[in-house]
Amino acid sequence: MSDGALSRRGFLGLVVAGAVAAACSDDDQARPSATTGQPGPDPDDLVPPDLAGDPFTLGVASGDPLADSVILWTRLALDAMDSDGRGAMPDEPIPVSWEVADDEELAQVVRTGTAAALPQLAHSVHVDVDGLEPDRWYWYRFRIGDHVSPVGRTRTLPPAGSSPERFAFALASCQNYQSGYYTAYDHLVEEDLDLVFFVGDYIYESGVSDDGVRQHDGPEAQDLATYRNRHALYRSDPRLQAAHARFPWVLTWDDHEVENNYAGDTDQDGNDDPSFLERRAAAYQAYYEHLPLRVEPPDGPDLPIYRGFDWGDLASVLVVDTRQYRTPQPCPSDTDLPVQVDCAEADAEDATILGSEQREWVTDRLRGTDATWAVLANQIVFSPLPVGSAYNMDQWDGYRHDRRELLAAMEDTGATPIVLSGDIHMSGGASVHRTDEDTDSPVIGAELVCTSISSTFEESLAEAAETIAAGIPWIAYANTRQRGYLTVELTANHAEARYRLVETALEETSPIDTDATLRCSPEDPTLRLV
Ligand code: FE
Ligand code: CA
Repeated sequence: MSDGALSRRGFLGLVVAGAVAAACSDDDQARPSATTGQPGPDPDDLVPPDLAGDPFTLGVASGDPLADSVILWTRLALDAMDSDGRGAMPDEPIPVSWEVADDEELAQVVRTGTAAALPQLAHSVHVDVDGLEPDRWYWYRFRIGDHVSPVGRTRTLPPAGSSPERFAFALASCQNYQSGYYTAYDHLVEEDLDLVFFVGDYIYESGVSDDGVRQHDGPEAQDLATYRNRHALYRSDPRLQAAHARFPWVLTWDDHEVENNYAGDTDQDGNDDPSFLERRAAAYQAYYEHLPLRVEPPDGPDLPIYRGFDWGDLASVLVVDTRQYRTPQPCPSDTDLPVQVDCAEADAEDATILGSEQREWVTDRLRGTDATWAVLANQIVFSPLPVGSAYNMDQWDGYRHDRRELLAAMEDTGATPIVLSGDIHMSGGASVHRTDEDTDSPVIGAELVCTSISSTFEESLAEAAETIAAGIPWIAYANTRQRGYLTVELTANHAEARYRLVETALEETSPIDTDATLRCSPEDPTLRLV
């Protein structure tokens, strides 16, 4: 089959897939429409320029699989850290051909096409490959003239209505480049997984710190060029590239992709003037440009990324966004402490962490599923975490009305809910009771919290935090001292989480160990150490 003959069909295929998904209601597998539908010229009319070097310096990635499709990603950059954020690429659309194969050597190519990498999207490519078979692995790569990308591996979802035996995934978050090396990813690529969930703090926006093991590229990211360069710096890490090439990823963001502790249209200092929304638009665009997301290309400060998919009848997955739509954190104080004394605002009915539209989508999806498990891929800690009479009001503890709405839907759902979270740079596991902090109320789900890939937990607080956690009856396990990720296996009979922690992220390589294994069943979601 000639490349050219298929490429046209491939491109039209994407456009059609995008249009159909856009017309579908939210009982479609993915809530926001499928895309790649990057606007622009017909890629078959484009001629590749002579490039002075390898444009595939940022690697390849895939994500947001469906039963018959997956998003393939790359971004072309001759010099990823080029100061204007354009990667030193020519200011023109560039045709990038792609191929998907049955085998690792790419001998049996099953789909090919050409996509246009546009300068206005930093020459990123999001290909929505359709026509794939369900529930299997594929290999893919990109090409421009003589330049060939690394090979990535990806997979499709089990078909709708099937009963898969197993769904295995990793959960990761918080990879501050300055705080450590990504030693955890050396081990993650060896795991037997279907996909990777990354639940926020993919980059940190901060300027250069002298205490780190390595340094950011410049001052705090503020605009499109500096957010692009920050993503490019992180993505230049070979371990992170390898983890993206090995599995499809499903991502959501937290605060540091834009700014520490921002809330909706309000920055961390409580200012909601329009310049913050301009900054948010730049940060969201750079995020889109660097990750394999099945969402529409950004246009302005809003970028809906909450979405869902099903792993046959074993799991219904909801990926949520607790940043873009939230109201400001309640109970402000003028101390620098990460916790604030409780106040009535944390219970206010007009406060929200999801926004009313997303909240309704989540609770409807929960009430509408009878999968064995409902997996809520979320960025911040859901379970109550009292520190005396204080709470971290950036977590769900600051938005108790929304938490009560979710708990009601979690009680009604035909599935057993598993909440995934990150953000706090420590490992944890908790049983979710029907009523906040009431251990006499039934356990209706479980929460699994991954530690950071590299971001630090303040050493002077590490022991106190573990002591506090040990005194909270719904918490089954806590570890503040190590970095890593967790792997989760879901079957019809159990959910099993293994806390995979590296000895150190302060050196280039590190051994890894399983610090704890927690298990629960669909009938009894109380988490127990095994
Ligand atoms: Fe973090
Ligand atoms: Ca965070």
